[in-house]
Amino acid sequence: MAAQETVEHKYVYDFAEGNKDLKDLLGGKGANLAEMTNLGLPVPPGFTITTEACKAYLSTGSEPEGLAGQIEAHLESLERAMGKRLGDPEDPLLVSVRSGAKFSMPGMMETVLNVGLNDRSVVGLSAQAGRNDRFAWDSYRRLIQMFGKTVCDVPGEEFEHALDDAKRAKGTENDLDLDADDLRGLVDAYKKIFAKHTGREFPQEPREQLDLAIRAVFESWNADRAVLYRRQERIPADLGTAVNVVAMVFGNLGPDSGTGVAFTRDPGSGAQGIYGDYLANAQGEDVVAGIRNTVPLQELERMDKTSYDQLLSFMARLEEHYKDLCDIEFTIERGKLWMLQTRVGKRTAAAAFVIAGQLVDEGLIDLDEALHRVNGAQLAQLMFPRFQLDHEFQPVAKGIGASPGAASGKVVFTSARAVELAAEGESVILVRRETNPDDLNGMIAAKGILTSRGGKTSHAAVVARGMGKTCVSGADEIDVNVPGRTFTVGGQTVREGDVVSIDGTTGKVYLGEVPVMPSEVVQYFEGSLDPEHIDNALVRAVHRIMTHADGKRRLAVRTNADTGADAARARRFGAEGIGLCRTEHMFLGDRRELVERLILARSEAERNAALAALLPLQRADFVEIFREMDGLPVTVRLIDPPLHEFLPPLEQLAVNVAVAQERGEDVAKEEALLAAVRRMHEENPMLGLRGVRLGLVIPGLFAMQVRAITEAAVECVRGGTVAKPEIMVPLVGAVQELETVRAEAEKIIAEVVGDSGVEVLIGTMIEVPRAALTAGQIAEAAQFFSFGTNDLTQMAWGFSRDDVEGAFFWRYLELGIFGISPFESIDRDGVGRLVRIAAEEGRAARPELKLGVCGEHGGDPDSVHFFHEVGLDYVSCSPFRVPVARLEAGRAAVETGGSDSR
Ligand code: PEP
Ligand code: MG
Repeated sequence: MAAQETVEHKYVYDFAEGNKDLKDLLGGKGANLAEMTNLGLPVPPGFTITTEACKAYLSTGSEPEGLAGQIEAHLESLERAMGKRLGDPEDPLLVSVRSGAKFSMPGMMETVLNVGLNDRSVVGLSAQAGRNDRFAWDSYRRLIQMFGKTVCDVPGEEFEHALDDAKRAKGTENDLDLDADDLRGLVDAYKKIFAKHTGREFPQEPREQLDLAIRAVFESWNADRAVLYRRQERIPADLGTAVNVVAMVFGNLGPDSGTGVAFTRDPGSGAQGIYGDYLANAQGEDVVAGIRNTVPLQELERMDKTSYDQLLSFMARLEEHYKDLCDIEFTIERGKLWMLQTRVGKRTAAAAFVIAGQLVDEGLIDLDEALHRVNGAQLAQLMFPRFQLDHEFQPVAKGIGASPGAASGKVVFTSARAVELAAEGESVILVRRETNPDDLNGMIAAKGILTSRGGKTSHAAVVARGMGKTCVSGADEIDVNVPGRTFTVGGQTVREGDVVSIDGTTGKVYLGEVPVMPSEVVQYFEGSLDPEHIDNALVRAVHRIMTHADGKRRLAVRTNADTGADAARARRFGAEGIGLCRTEHMFLGDRRELVERLILARSEAERNAALAALLPLQRADFVEIFREMDGLPVTVRLIDPPLHEFLPPLEQLAVNVAVAQERGEDVAKEEALLAAVRRMHEENPMLGLRGVRLGLVIPGLFAMQVRAITEAAVECVRGGTVAKPEIMVPLVGAVQELETVRAEAEKIIAEVVGDSGVEVLIGTMIEVPRAALTAGQIAEAAQFFSFGTNDLTQMAWGFSRDDVEGAFFWRYLELGIFGISPFESIDRDGVGRLVRIAAEEGRAARPELKLGVCGEHGGDPDSVHFFHEVGLDYVSCSPFRVPVARLEAGRAAVETGGSDSR
């Protein structure tokens, strides 16, 4: 056999042959079982069938050649190790058949326990268990139930109904009250159910049971729920699952047996200590099914001190070995402890930081590794406000945390009512079964969104995330009655106007108003919590890891800010300049009137007068920002959106004019305005008269802005502030556009700067695909590029950035056309390619060209890694994203072997 295996492809590995680094081949569970076996921990013997065997089976529909023989050989050695044979009528070896993919997919795939039991071996099992008939028949009925459901698609409820019938006949609700005879009867009932649905008897041949169970686990990789889960979690579809065949050990053999889970640290807070649950006289699935209540793991010390002490020493050993929080499943069979599973445990965002910090203190990992172990998404989560929960608040339902944050408000069931109440200043929570595009206004008006259906990529979830609004989706315990304007949950009825609170991070729903607590991490970033002087493990860990990230990163982090207040906050958050100051909001409010005058000007003199009135206002705006950013670069972008956006909407204006005319009022001004709006109306304003085009068409507009920026800088410098203005031209597609604007700007700058020493850079956004493709030419006229990846994504895909995410992206996500909106995370292959081309060609033409990005992607963790790889100088993002970008830029540098070469 051994000789044959060397020439055949190896599909089966004994636990002793694997290790934790073979997750691709052996899956997470198999690789870790192998690791524990090799550490000398008591793992029940067994073997793992590789993911390759699964992939071969799934692609051809039959087991690959050689697999059956290899299973046979490993089964034989398992039988030798255990001193029993599979299904032996006298003393049967029983095995579990468990799935185990590279990435944990909890509950998504299949497991069959007690394989090897049949009408004869059930008697042997009872004898071996000390004449424990009850245990043997209970094990047999579990096998038929799991095997029927998993392997032969028998509807699970039928078995559950039969179990309920048996309990009812006995007058009990507790499984444990069923005796051996009841369970024997249940086995007969189960067999009938099995035969009715499959047209055959329950297979009595142990090896056939094993082969069919293995096949079912292979096939469960492609079960609908597994496919959906992978899509949601962005797990590749072609990995396949491994199958673990493990000798059964039993936690249900009496009071000296049991089963439990343990964590080496608290996965919620990261605190050191003993965390876990234990259930005596039970098997693992009883814990999952919640049949009886578990007790805290500490109680095991009283029940079985030897096993408890042993478990603690194994936990310490595992943590030391994996250098991380481990979670563990174990079973005690008649006083003997068995380790059934371990893995690096999932944890909350706070625990991730705290544990990484602790492990550095303990000398188990270094700071680079600590940085690698946390991420920007976790940091972002820690920056949301949280509910201040004490015991008086119990959740009434739990759905999916679809968009993080904490929100309380009055319940409304329709979009219209949400808008109405919000207009009255109320906080509202929009509750729907699921949302659709018609709910958009309501979603905008609401503080939070709660749906009873739909997952992380449902319409509600996608749109809420896009808006940064708290959302809980798929809270299926709540029953929504939209016409009745009520929902019921746990027997209570909630009416329109009642207050609920939803936690978009945990997915929990509370009745009443839960107080909201600000984030300590934000307080730290804002400078109001000093990490050196407070006893807060989270803040200290965040401080330490952020400091390390800052030391490592090569990318600078700037912010997108258009007001002094935003600039100041971003600076406290660590921004090293402004990468995008959008000037358009400076044309709103009481300045609209000046914009109207500019648009309606009938002569050069009228236009110049309007511009002259705007100039000092703009200058004051820039002075404020330069002062906040003293010593740091500030990129000011010349006005971008179409001017008619600053005028009233066409319909409203037309109605106003008609009504006023009817009344015989003087409407000359409104008529002129209406004519201008009509004249400027565009079918596709996003592709119309905006950005540099506006500057070329409206004489004096850009000149006024350039003058205001330069005068502000000179004023600041004369007052002792170091102003470093960078003027950025939007929407450039051809170098000639930029050259024209630049020629005019340079004249003004030269005139204004005088001997002040102010230096003004002139650069451009790269946000039109043509600009990216002709970057070599454009760089001749630009001192810097800033990638506007919002428009670049819009124009590369032809997706309207204002419409598509709410309109149909949920379908694209469902179909897997992309795993995440390209407006949220950079599309590396398409838009990213344009960025790469422009960066390379721009730098080739002008080596000192400064490169940055100021689209939304500048604050997206994955995109930050991409911009690091492409070699940009900085990313720029909204103030709240600055810490996230700093952290991710540090991680990118560490992961690509970079150093503090900034
Ligand atoms: C962009 O297009 O990416 C950009 C930053 O500009 P705006 O979002 O203002 O169009
Ligand atoms: Mg843009």
